[in-house]
Order: sequence, then structure tokens, then C-alpha cells
Amino acid sequence: MRFDLIVAGGGVVGASLVRALRGLSIALIDARSSDLAAAAPDGAGWDARVYALSPGNVGFLRELKVWQAIPPERLTPVYGMQVHGDRPASAIGFDAYRAGVPELAWIVEDRALQSALWQTLWSQDGCTGFPAARGVQLEFDATAGVRLELQDGRSLESSLIVGADGAHSFVREAAGIAVTARQYGQTAVVANFRCERAHGNIARQWFQGGPVLALLPLPGERVSMVWSLPDVDAGRVQGLDPMALAREVELASAGALGALEVLTPPQSFALRRFTASRLVQPNLALVGDAAHVVHPLAGQGLNLGLQDVRVLAETLLGRESVRGLGDLRLLRRYERARAEDILLTGATMHGLHALFGAPASGWASLRNMGLNFSDRLPVLKNLLLRHALR
Ligand SMILES: Cc1cc2nc3c(=O)[nH]c(=O)nc-3n(C[C@H](O)[C@H](O)[C@H](O)COP(=O)(O)OP(=O)(O)OC[C@H]3O[C@@H](n4cnc5c(N)ncnc54)[C@H](O)[C@@H]3O)c2cc1C
Repeated sequence: MRFDLIVAGGGVVGASLVRALRGLSIALIDARSSDLAAAAPDGAGWDARVYALSPGNVGFLRELKVWQAIPPERLTPVYGMQVHGDRPASAIGFDAYRAGVPELAWIVEDRALQSALWQTLWSQDGCTGFPAARGVQLEFDATAGVRLELQDGRSLESSLIVGADGAHSFVREAAGIAVTARQYGQTAVVANFRCERAHGNIARQWFQGGPVLALLPLPGERVSMVWSLPDVDAGRVQGLDPMALAREVELASAGALGALEVLTPPQSFALRRFTASRLVQPNLALVGDAAHVVHPLAGQGLNLGLQDVRVLAETLLGRESVRGLGDLRLLRRYERARAEDILLTGATMHGLHALFGAPASGWASLRNMGLNFSDRLPVLKNLLLRHALR
């Protein structure tokens, strides 16, 4: 079976790319079953995996007609952000009204977004879906371009394969692309809570000298927690009974939202950072977590992945008629356009993690002074905001 391109991985990043490339003949393979399209969370259940997405990426998902397919009652606009240091009164705040924008971000559940993407994908003109499929062998040759063999023996050919298959990418590994990984020794524990006090559509975060706690607003009186903790503490926190967990989070958040009640059992995700040594080679491109993984302390991973998709789709659709999709010179334009953002975001997340994890008291004063200082500098705040709104 021959296609213009193969997209390996139908997570939010891969599925968005397929939608953005309507008009091309695409093979989309994903290890999960297509039943996922029907797995949108219902009224009662709230997904503990949520994303804070930038207005720029939400605009992109609107252009793809994906955002409109998510029930509005499952979406939460963020009007303010409060980031607290690990000393009392050290904080920085952002406000949509003062920044002159309708909202600073949107919070969306993973399953709601994934289901909206998948609902129409399998019937998209030109898209042939291979759900519950995995690649087992990947070959490159000058005539065929790429040949991908699936575990059931089917063989797919194309000029380009895009690896959107997440942090443990088969495509990246089969192509021999190395990653420089760094373990944080931290695990993110996520859970949803009902809160006694109104969250006011404000995303709140506390740096705690290593651990980082975030409470993101969900519709109504609900918040979603992402707590990045040293591995041993994460194991302990995950093992707490619901009452004890709620009390511990109340304490860590200085009671900002009053009494909390656990709504979803905690889940955990091991944290690490890496960037692939290259994003492209002839007939191949990497996007999303297959290309880079960052610490989730500022919720930038999927935002970076969607920006990859925006740039790659624009590059492929805007190619000169003489260039094939797998042409290395074309793919290098994508790699060059993404290099700075990926490096900067990864390094910033890592730097913040290192700065707020440093135990020495001198560092503690400096980082907390830095927060207060930045809070009083409108120019710096605007720069930070401009980056976050893209
Ligand atoms: C706790 C936590 C909180 C986060 N919060 C945020 C946030 O607020 N905002 C944000 O922007 N980012 C956030 N992130 C980062 C975000 O989750 C990831 O960056 C994003 O999910 C990556 O999407 P992806 O589509 O690239 O990869 P994935 O979501 O991993 O999708 C990969 C897809 O490929 C498929 N697949 C894998 N292997 C194969 C194979 N061999 N063959 C076929 N298919 C395969 C999988 O089934 C899956 O569908 C957070 C991360 C964590 C851990």
C-alpha cells in the first residue's frame, strides 16, 4: 500500500498533523484501538490528565475544526496565573485583562481532546487508519522512500514517515536517532479535586524547593492537580487515602482553595527530559514527544508538539512543486524553524527546575527575590507572556 506519507502515532500531536494535512493521502497507524473516538468523558467523570494549552494552539485547533467539537462545558478558560516561590510573599502574577487578551490559556481534558480529534479522523478523505497497529520494521531506500512493516505482515510505503509515537518512539529508535536524556528522579502525581472556595479561573503553582505543585481550574468547583515530587514522596502521596491526600494538598497550597475533596484516584507519570539529536533525515521527521520531552512544570510539552505540527504542516504544504515530501532540504526548513523554540523551552523548564530545586539558602533568597522582581517589571512580564500565548 502506497501513501504520500505515513504518520506513526495518533496521539494529540499525530492526529492534529493528519487533520492539518487534509488533501494528502495518509496512513495513520496507532497502537490503540479506534474505540478511543467514543471514549469522551461523560458528564460525571472528569479525566485526571488535562492540558493547559496556549491561545495560539487553541486557535490552530479551531482552524482544524477540532476545538468546536469539544463540548464547551468541558473547557475552562484561564484568566489569571499565580506562581508562588518557596518563601512567604514571593510570587508573580499574570492577568488576562491587564495583558489585553481574552484568556491566558485553556484547560482541556486529554480524552475530550483526543476523542474530538479521532471522531472525524478515520473518515477523513485521503486518510487510511490502521488502529491497533504497530510498526515492527522500518526501511529506507532510494526508490521506495520508506517501507514500514506492521506486526500483522502488512507493508506500507511512502515518501515520508512522521514519528509522532511519543517519548518511546519506535520510529526514532528504528532510524537510529539518539537522544540525550536526563532523569529528574521526580514523578508527577495527578488527581482532580472539588474545592470549597471558587478558583476564579486562576491557575496556581507553588515551587517548594524541588517539588512543584500546580492546581489548574476545571469547570465548576473542580481543580486538576499536577504535583511533581521526588520519586519516593510521589509513591507515598499516591498511597495516601483520599482524606489524607486532600489534607496534604490543602497544606501544600496554603489553603488557597479551602477544603479539598478527591474526585479521581491519583495517577503518576515518571519525569525526564530529552531532545532527539536531530528532528529530520531523508524521508523522516519527528514531532511532539518523539522529538522532545520537557518537565511539565509550565505545561509546555503538548504546546511544543502542536507548534511542531503547525510548522511541519506549513512546510510540507508550501513546498515547491519540484520537491518531494521526503526531500531533506525541505525537511531541514522544519528542523531549523523549530530548533530555537525547542532548545529554549527545554532549557527554561530545566533551569527553573534546577533553580527552585537548589537547597542552598543563598539560592533560595535569589530565586524568591527574582519572582518578586519580575512581578514588578511589566516589560519582562510581557515578554514571558508573549512566549506563553503563542
Ligand atoms: C503530568 C503531566 C502533565 C502535563 N501537562 C501538560 C500541559 O498542561 N500542557 C502541555 O502542553 N503539555 C503537558 N504535558 C506534556 C504532554 O502530555 C505531552 O507533551 C503530549 O501528550 C505529547 O503528545 P504526543 O502526541 O507527542 O505523544 P503521546 O501522547 O505519547 O502519543 C503517542 C501516540 O503514539 C502511539 N504509539 C506509541 N508507540 C507506538 C507504536 N510503536 N506504533 C504505533 N503507535 C504508537 C500511542 O498509542 C499514542 O497514541 C504534561 C505531561 C505530564 C507527564
